[in-house]
Amino acid sequence: MTMHRYRSRFDGKPRSTPGPATDPRYRTKRWQRLRLQVLRRDLWQCQIVPGCEREANVCDHVRAVTDDMPDSLFFDPANLRAACRHHNTRRGHVAAFEAELAAAPAPAPRRRDTIFGGHRR
Ligand SMILES: [Zn+2]
Repeated sequence: MTMHRYRSRFDGKPRSTPGPATDPRYRTKRWQRLRLQVLRRDLWQCQIVPGCEREANVCDHVRAVTDDMPDSLFFDPANLRAACRHHNTRRGHVAAFEAELAAAPAPAPRRRDTIFGGHRR
């Protein structure tokens, strides 16, 4: 049925997705070590969606990985952040990710000012 069709889309060609997981540098010792450093630095908290309570055990590149990305950038802690698996995967589907960001509860107090027209305290 429909479920079946959905699945086959992902079974087919793993190489067709420009996913960062295909980069061979993910299999190096250097990466494994750096990844742990970043996760510890970010206290195992997901940095993609503020307030996310899932355990962050994935290291995400802020600037997306490309085949010709130099090692200096690939292994740059400033270009890395902790992410939960959920949001790290979502990021590949930008539209879905942005929709989730927009729908996320925004506990920003300054928003009240604009919405309710200067009911400040
Ligand atoms: Zn998350």
